[in-house]
Amino acid sequence: MTDHINPFESALVQLGKAGKVLVESGIRNQESGKTLQVTLRKLEQPEREVHVNIPVVMDDGTLRIFAGYRVQYNRALGPYKGGIRYHPNVDLNEVKALAFWMTMKCAVAGLPLGGGKGGVVVDPKELSAGELERLSRGYARAIADVIGPDKDVPAPDVNTNGTIMGWMVDEYIKVVSRQSSVVSTKDKEKLRGTFTGKLIKDGGSEGREEATGLGGLYVLQAALKKMVNGTGNSKQKAMMVAGRKKFPLEISTSQPRLTVAVMGFGNVGYNMVKFLVGAGFTVVAVSDSRGGIHVPTGVNPELTLACKKKNGYLAGCYCSGSVCDLSKGRPITQEQLLELPVDILIPAALENVITKENASKIKAKVILEMANGPTTPEADEILAKRGVTVIPDVLANSGGVTVSAFEWEQNLKGQHWTKEDVNRKLRKKMETAAGAVWEAAKKYKTTLRTAAFAVAVGRIMKKS
Ligand code: NAD
Repeated sequence: MTDHINPFESALVQLGKAGKVLVESGIRNQESGKTLQVTLRKLEQPEREVHVNIPVVMDDGTLRIFAGYRVQYNRALGPYKGGIRYHPNVDLNEVKALAFWMTMKCAVAGLPLGGGKGGVVVDPKELSAGELERLSRGYARAIADVIGPDKDVPAPDVNTNGTIMGWMVDEYIKVVSRQSSVVSTKDKEKLRGTFTGKLIKDGGSEGREEATGLGGLYVLQAALKKMVNGTGNSKQKAMMVAGRKKFPLEISTSQPRLTVAVMGFGNVGYNMVKFLVGAGFTVVAVSDSRGGIHVPTGVNPELTLACKKKNGYLAGCYCSGSVCDLSKGRPITQEQLLELPVDILIPAALENVITKENASKIKAKVILEMANGPTTPEADEILAKRGVTVIPDVLANSGGVTVSAFEWEQNLKGQHWTKEDVNRKLRKKMETAAGAVWEAAKKYKTTLRTAAFAVAVGRIMKKS
């Protein structure tokens, strides 16, 4: 499915487009023109690339050395922030691209944080639990000098989770305690803010697990509201937000609610489906790595998840209403899912799945990018020409890092917020971010993606 592109080169293409609209938009005075050029030049490469080698004693007594990275891209807005990925294909270009996108994402979401990313070249499925813990502690020790609540705040990413963050933060606090003569309990609490995405018992935040999906719903609702502005009245707007179908998205009159297809049924995909259904959308198709299911009457998220857990995969889980029944659905391939006649398509699994080969066949009018980098630059241009609204990843999936930022803030202040508080603050952040991107797209007459990057660069420029 991929167009075989270097992700860091794609990132720089996106930066170039944002730079162009900002320059053309009339940063007229010489001083700000110069600051913009300096900011753009600085954003073409990370501020720091750390390459570490992590020795791990394996269960059989042999020693293996794992390569790892931490890229600290830009800290104009605050400490670097970004996840740690465990994957055999991790390489420096990928980590640099992800760190760049985190810089943009934190800026778009209006967080007081910069961008970074980490990775270890490893297939964690080949490690025992003990080996995984020793590797994670080893990585934390290896990067300990360059991280900290005021320096760089890592989090989970692909194949890492709250348990791994717990090991890392514990190891990091041990390193700091060995280096400093006195580390008070209060200091230790603050040091917990060095990693986010922790389990609640280790200082994690309420609502973090669901935050990316819930944030995606808030962004989608805000975008749909904007889309009916000008064409719809307030009743239409209210219906749109509740997921009821309305002009200009109407495709088929037989389906009264907005229809959605979601690729991926992991943390982000499942939560997204759950919140969409709760908000009144009809999710007619979902998929996982083994294939997809098309359930025209709309999937029941809880039953579908229970069925997937039982089987180990989604195939055959045609759960609609209160039953799972083979007559309610049919199997579909990933390609068929992407090309279904739905109102909204949500890639929530892998990068580079919407390509120049399938972009012209996509029938959805709105694409909400919950995965990172699901659309190649060539596909992006085709979709823009076809008038498909692509809500870019740096906005759509920024709910996760937003609640990570809340976790960091709670650790620094020694507080623990309720889930209601977290979700209320999340909604506000997402609506504000979506509004800023929407306004920028109108102002610069450009796509939401280029607008989002322009918003981010503008904010970084002001602090540079
Ligand atoms: P996950 O591992 O929990 O789920 C991934 C899902 O994708 C699984 O259901 C898997 O079966 C499915 N999948 C794998 N290959 C597939 C294929 N070829 N076709 C269809 N489905 C396939 O991961 P996640 O945390 O849900 O992350 C998904 C995406 O969202 C990633 O791009 C990630 O970077 C991005 N993201 C995640 C978060 C977060 O908070 N978890 C935040 C921002 C962005």
